[in-house]
Amino acid sequence: LALANAGVDQLQPYQPGKPVEELERELGISNSVKLASNENPLGLGPKAKAAIEQALPELARYPDANGFNLKARLAGRLKVRTDQLILGNGSNELIDLLYHTFVSAGQEVVYSQYTFVVYALATQAHGAKAVVVPAKDFGHDLDAMAAAITGNTKLVCITNPNNPTGTFLGKAELEAFLAKVPENVLVVLDEAYTEYVDEAERIPSIDWLAGYPNLIVSRTFSKAYGLAGLRVGYMVCHPELVGVLNRVREPFNCNSLALAAAEAALDDTDYLQKAVNLNRQEMARYVAFFEEKGLNYIPSKANFITLDLQRDAGPAYEALLREGVIVRPIAGYGLPTCLRISIGLEHENQRCMEALAKVLA
Ligand code: PMP
Repeated sequence: LALANAGVDQLQPYQPGKPVEELERELGISNSVKLASNENPLGLGPKAKAAIEQALPELARYPDANGFNLKARLAGRLKVRTDQLILGNGSNELIDLLYHTFVSAGQEVVYSQYTFVVYALATQAHGAKAVVVPAKDFGHDLDAMAAAITGNTKLVCITNPNNPTGTFLGKAELEAFLAKVPENVLVVLDEAYTEYVDEAERIPSIDWLAGYPNLIVSRTFSKAYGLAGLRVGYMVCHPELVGVLNRVREPFNCNSLALAAAEAALDDTDYLQKAVNLNRQEMARYVAFFEEKGLNYIPSKANFITLDLQRDAGPAYEALLREGVIVRPIAGYGLPTCLRISIGLEHENQRCMEALAKVLA
């Protein structure tokens, strides 16, 4: 421990949900449903699967160190230049790379109270100063975040839709916020769940890049594209920022299967549409169920919904586990009365609702 830097010394590791097999063994149950990590319940899409099979014979070779094909495909899709793109081993790796590259010890990072915990972990690990802005209705308070920026601020982190609350910032308020941020302060806009947002409401974040050279848009193939296990995400920003990030990025950070599958997944519009439609339909069912039962929930635009039991959620989490339903307690996010439920397949959600009805009765 004496060897760790000051930030790492006090750091608690990221707590992922336990693997299903481990939980089932611990609890002596089987046939559980896992609605805990915001994954795509449809499983791997057919085009991604075929691309993986096709890539297998090449696995003795190194992957394309620069992800040329995937970047070309993404650039076409997003209408950006390939030198505005950087690929990562999940967007998580890119978040870390962003800190590693741009954030020095002692500088300030501004983020919202209930947001993706990796921002807090990375801030601490890099010895930066966390400026945590109190949430407004469980979401980001952009006015307060703008007011929190000082001469020492290096980075502002915004997650939209937000994890773990599912709250969403509209186009006008986000753009007004960006206009207030000084150019020497970087803004990462984490859009891991953007595909689930109705098209009419979606943020034109990529269009904003031309006007805001300090904006970094982060996305992932882990959610709506169904590739969480392969680890591939990307950031889109000014070519100069990409150039600096590439100095620090490990070569070969995206493996061959991930690159091939992501390319194919981008083309599989049927799969994406099916995932988004399922999510919309099942989200509506959860909302109707919560309303009927008089349960408090946070309206969500993502692929999960957070229930506020207004009392310690730990016992309900444990009771749900015994019913074979694995959800996510989010005490670690500062929300000890809440449970986050990832939207699953229809029959999985049905089991979750039945278990909730029983456990909360
Ligand atoms: N950002 C947000 C807001 C997330 O919720 C997640 C996944 N939980 C990630 C980034 C990281 O996703 P990945 O590394 O799989 O791309």
